[in-house]
Amino acid sequence: MVRVRFAPSPTGYVHIGSLRTALYNFLYAKKMNGSYVLRIEDTDQTRYVEGSIENLINCLVKTGIVHEEGPFIKGNDIEEIGSFGPYTQSKRLNIYNEYIEKLIEKDWAYTCFCSQDRLAEVRDQQKAKGETPKYDGKCRQLSKTEVEEKIKSGDPYVIRLKLPVDTIISFEDMVRGSIVFNTNDLDDQVLIKTDGFPTYHFAVVVDDHLMGITHIIRGEEWLPSTPKHVALYKAFKWEEPKYVHLPNILNDDKKKLSKRQGDVAVEDFLKKGYLPEALINYIALLGWSPDSEEEVFTMEELIQKFDLTRINKSGAVFDRNKLNWM
Ligand code: GLU
Repeated sequence: MVRVRFAPSPTGYVHIGSLRTALYNFLYAKKMNGSYVLRIEDTDQTRYVEGSIENLINCLVKTGIVHEEGPFIKGNDIEEIGSFGPYTQSKRLNIYNEYIEKLIEKDWAYTCFCSQDRLAEVRDQQKAKGETPKYDGKCRQLSKTEVEEKIKSGDPYVIRLKLPVDTIISFEDMVRGSIVFNTNDLDDQVLIKTDGFPTYHFAVVVDDHLMGITHIIRGEEWLPSTPKHVALYKAFKWEEPKYVHLPNILNDDKKKLSKRQGDVAVEDFLKKGYLPEALINYIALLGWSPDSEEEVFTMEELIQKFDLTRINKSGAVFDRNKLNWM
């Protein structure tokens, strides 16, 4: 049974690229008679923008990308529906705490008390030597008693992933093929921050596992993070999902699509009167090509035709004139 998710962070407007990620997840779920879940990833409280969850749900519903589980707008409130909830990460902190304890017990995570000043110093020294900056593992050595004492005396701390040394981590990406990393090239990722909130990397793995996600379809900017996620699946001995990293949507200058060259917010296109169907039709073809010459599809036709094996490897240019014309 296919279960996919769209997992945006509520940091403002809905980028065209996010809408495409939501759409591909939705199309794949529908095509496979699976489920499509909406999960709000708000563990970085400093980036939260008031009203962005409501705006996001509105944009998705208007464009016909309607989830079956997750937050919905009911009257003036947001209500969560589905048996794997809550789907808003800030409401799941006790779950992450439970799993970080398990990870520490398995010796796949450790408490780190290094100050920002020390970390900056280490980084500068590594850079001066021409090395890629990463945490030097100082706190890996601390004993259980030392950790307990430091915590008792109120020292701030984070919890880091304890990667095995010099170990190969590999996974198959359905677009990019086989990806191979050596753990020596990865950082001991922070999993729980000083404020007690998990980082994206920890919450995403715990949630994708607990919510039974089978395919992770997301933008390629997350590809470099995936080895850390795979390491976490291995640590917990959880079955790994299938990965599908979508190529970037580009500006005319072949750089990643940004606001500098014009609108990129879905809500702005909708406000300007673009038909949701036209927007969906256009972005469906930005990164995926059907096995026919047709160019105009309804959502139902897109569902019928959608195929993960026909996702393009290279980025597609977002041409606002083409969208105008449709
Ligand atoms: N919260 C991440 C984002 O806003 C989701 C990345 C993922 O799908 O794993 O893009």
